[in-house]
Amino acid sequence: MGRIRILPDEVANKIAAGEVVERPASVVKELLENSLDAGATEVRIEVAAGGRRLVRVADDGCGMGRDDALLAFERHATSKLREARDLLAISSLGFRGEALPSIAAVSRLTLETRAADEPTGTRVEVAGGRILRVSEIALAPGTAVAVRDLFYNMPARRKFLRSEQTELAHIASLVTQYSLAYPEKSFSLRHEARTLLEVTPVARLRDRVYQVFGSELLEELVDLGVRERALETPADREGRAPAAPTGAVFRLRGFVSQPHHQRPNRNSIYLFVNRRLIRDRLLMHALLAAYRNLAPPDVFPFALLFLECDPSEVDVNVHPAKTEVRFRHSAFVHDFVCDAVREALAEARPVSAIPLPAPAQPAVGLPYSEYSQHALDEAWRACQGSGAPLLPQQAGEETPWAGADPGPFVAPERAEGLRLPLPETHRGFPPEWLEEAVVSMANIAELRPLGQIRDSFIVAAGPDGLWLVDQHVAHERILFEKFLKRRQQGRVETQSLLTPLILALTPAQQADYERIAAELQAAGFEIEPFGGRTIAVKAAPAGIPPADLEKALLEVLEPADEDWRRAPLEDLRRRIAAALACRAAIKINTPLETARMEWLLRALAAAEHPMSCPHGRPTVLRYPMREILRAFRRI
Ligand code: ADP
Ligand code: MG
Repeated sequence: MGRIRILPDEVANKIAAGEVVERPASVVKELLENSLDAGATEVRIEVAAGGRRLVRVADDGCGMGRDDALLAFERHATSKLREARDLLAISSLGFRGEALPSIAAVSRLTLETRAADEPTGTRVEVAGGRILRVSEIALAPGTAVAVRDLFYNMPARRKFLRSEQTELAHIASLVTQYSLAYPEKSFSLRHEARTLLEVTPVARLRDRVYQVFGSELLEELVDLGVRERALETPADREGRAPAAPTGAVFRLRGFVSQPHHQRPNRNSIYLFVNRRLIRDRLLMHALLAAYRNLAPPDVFPFALLFLECDPSEVDVNVHPAKTEVRFRHSAFVHDFVCDAVREALAEARPVSAIPLPAPAQPAVGLPYSEYSQHALDEAWRACQGSGAPLLPQQAGEETPWAGADPGPFVAPERAEGLRLPLPETHRGFPPEWLEEAVVSMANIAELRPLGQIRDSFIVAAGPDGLWLVDQHVAHERILFEKFLKRRQQGRVETQSLLTPLILALTPAQQADYERIAAELQAAGFEIEPFGGRTIAVKAAPAGIPPADLEKALLEVLEPADEDWRRAPLEDLRRRIAAALACRAAIKINTPLETARMEWLLRALAAAEHPMSCPHGRPTVLRYPMREILRAFRRI
């Protein structure tokens, strides 16, 4: 008795309709999802000519009997759904029963499959949607689908395919991403004679991240661990009661980059819901919101986020290619993801290292060839854009820090000619010097400030190396959190001005001012209209030097980006706090006594997010002991 059924019309009609097969990567996606749904532990993918000539996906999953193998090519034939109600809680990757017939209609397709409890396998050959031949074959249990000459019968569609390299890049990106979602499975991707990706089963996501991206990136990442929140949580951040106390638990796992690790676009953000690769504005927004005031607004993190929840909490039947979802409790999901990432960043308190020139030796031990690295880089560039159709990015766009690396500490030791054998006295140092203390911003409370460079940067010695602190941005971070906290607790301190500050506003500023006047007042300003478009500032939050008040106000009234006008109130509060902190913070070119430097370091260590200023610049840099020893050629 076969498992596949044809969906009754009333169910079929409820399924998001549309084009499934757009390009070779969509074929790979559908076949890969079928293999995963079939419980495969190993998936092998082979492509030729960027997938135009061949896409072949072979798995060791449950396979199909002869009847099912034929039925699978009927529209709306699926083993994964029975009735309309099942659409409300989909736990498989596929459910529409449309992929195989859609692909078979536009290619020459061969399906070879054998269910474990059947003595023989079945081969079905289809071309342009017509079944040409069905035969019995000897085969190990599992399924292999080969799709040749995609769009051979649709010249118009064929014309829209992009270059072989681009199509291949999309495929490589897709397979890479699925391999991240299923670390317990093997994946391989071969293009003609070359292996682009080959990963064996590993126990932890961390190990898979290592297999795919290598150790250098892994070091830059913060592990979220497993973070959970149940829907019945008494109230969220805004004090709103939860939408419905269903008790459903949401779980978030994954990795995010430290705030100072910055990418120029969204290409390195990978989002999964119930292990389904998706593109979702809500989750994207939640992630970026977590970095607000930690990283500059125009850069993006690396992120690999896996959200898990009850299938009934998420509607995957929204988009024909199943890449978009809709959450039942979207505000809850947004806040949970944002808070979870922010908490993880706060706990990790990562410290920026003083950027050193990259070591000259090639990276070794990466489990994929140089070619595959190139292909994957290409893939990440080409895919993951926010909108469909996906277009490749400009070459070179994806080089973090390109042109920004100031390259201090370019060690003179790199010069040639220092090849004399080192006497023992130059080497000897207690081995514990090499033990990396847990690098945390908490350490800065223990540092000994030695002095300032140009009355602007504090130099401090710690057991784990040399630290540099930007006194202005460090103080800015401290004050930003202080202003924000006071505002949230309604305890702002106000200070009257001896003479009111009279400000003439442009019409645009006037409009913005009216919109935010109430919030300015709550932040500690006392402002009155002074006729026309002029306002009189009579009092201001304590701590802002009167000479800087005008600048602070104009900064709030004249934001660089246009988006803030539609941003939530919380963003406005942050903007105001950031503008005030910037004006009230210790300036550069200010001599500081030791006691004041010590105070600054302690206060920074106590901050919630001490690692960067509200505009996203790092507050401190560390030159680790190991690097010092290395530069002095002691190791
Ligand atoms: P859907 O995945 O939405 O059910 P498809 O057209 O992709 O629709 O596949 C139709 C059916 O064929 C699936 O429901 C499944 O029963 C069967 N099938 C497809 N691919 C495989 C596979 N690799 N292994 C086992 N069964 C498969
Ligand atoms: Mg499918």
